[in-house]
Amino acid sequence: MSQLTFLGAARTVTGSKYLLEHGGSRVLVDCGLFQGLKELRLRNWDGLPLGPDALHAVVLTHAHLDHVGYLPRLVAHGYRGRIFCTGGTADLCRLVLPDAARIQEEDARQANKHTYTKHHPALPLYTEADAYRAISQLQPVGYERPIEVAPGITVRFSQAGHLLGSAYVFTRLDGGATILFGGDLGRYGRPVLPDPADATDADVVLVESTYGDRDHAPDDRGEALAEVIRDTVGHGGKLIIPAFAVGRVGELLYWVRRLEDERRIPVLPVFVDSPMATEALRFYTTRVAELDADMQPAEKGVAAFASTRFQTVASPQQSKQLTASPHPAIVISSSGMATGGRVLHHLAAALPDPRHTVLFVGYQAAGTRGRQLVDGATRVKIHGRLVPVAARVRKLDSMSAHADRGEILRWLGTLPRRPGRLCLVHGEPGPMDALRTLVADRLGWNAHTPAHAEQIAL
Ligand SMILES: [Zn+2]
Repeated sequence: MSQLTFLGAARTVTGSKYLLEHGGSRVLVDCGLFQGLKELRLRNWDGLPLGPDALHAVVLTHAHLDHVGYLPRLVAHGYRGRIFCTGGTADLCRLVLPDAARIQEEDARQANKHTYTKHHPALPLYTEADAYRAISQLQPVGYERPIEVAPGITVRFSQAGHLLGSAYVFTRLDGGATILFGGDLGRYGRPVLPDPADATDADVVLVESTYGDRDHAPDDRGEALAEVIRDTVGHGGKLIIPAFAVGRVGELLYWVRRLEDERRIPVLPVFVDSPMATEALRFYTTRVAELDADMQPAEKGVAAFASTRFQTVASPQQSKQLTASPHPAIVISSSGMATGGRVLHHLAAALPDPRHTVLFVGYQAAGTRGRQLVDGATRVKIHGRLVPVAARVRKLDSMSAHADRGEILRWLGTLPRRPGRLCLVHGEPGPMDALRTLVADRLGWNAHTPAHAEQIAL
């Protein structure tokens, strides 16, 4: 018997995990962390409904934590098998997994220090050692190269255009069904990352629905960003951009460089103050061939990330100097939702000064400092101190890495035939239900929205 169990990202956007069972083989597709609301985060402590030695392989779609962040926990519980992914995903996992572990360990340390935990002592979900062990089990595989990951289960990675290394996973069960795991769906006609590859004919298709209820702002050739930069320069201040270290920084740098080339903004010093972002950028430049066609040839692609006065900030000392400097500049630093990292020092220094601007370019989850600022907070707490907000706070939606509803439909439209079953995953119930209605109206297909832990026969 063959079956699929939805162990995460079922009517929610985090914790992606799908257990595929076929003829005695068991493969986990994605191994994501639950994030956000506490009731979801508590699921990270529940464990999987099978022993780690009962699993034959793990397959990853891309290196965002909600798709890979549970790996060290799985390994800590004894999983010793291979973890299949593209080379780009393996590269980025080497950055994000140890970083996630350090944050888990630091959170546990803080909880014990301030005794705001009911658990004594508070333990991290996993440690840096667990993360490095998980990394040692990564098995990179090229795009479009079918590989048998467990007896009777063959997978193939195709370009998803969502992040360096991101992929759809086409899965063939010997003598059985074909399943297309959509991972996260990228966007069409954007710079830096290629368009998503056309979908492959499959009996069962899983597709994300994060933005299943809306369209992103139309492409403005960077004009909204240019306007924010010109406005900041007009006030003689700095532009602080909190950005996710893995992914968004590359696209931001591309736009700054392009706006400079087109003389639509003045040339400013641009600082990337995030060691992880600097490392991630290195992976983007070594894998230029996997990026969008307009980044080719390789020399052009590498140059596309380097604005005229581009600098990376190496040491915390340099970061402090930059924080204290009053000169106009663009500072890109993580974390993207201002929940931690070096950007907090920049925000603490810049927010009270009306000359400066803070620009958010990614999704700001409920309960984060980023969300408070976007919602118009007049002061925010940073490092235990209340900081008044006098700087301008702006937000740009056009840089999302997720397909909007039109792009999801466009991708589904590349399927050569209606799948036997279409499952919507990776979305909050509202956008997911909106997408289900849209798919029924436009394509005439019934979509299923599986519940957490639901099983379907294949
Ligand atoms: Zn993602």
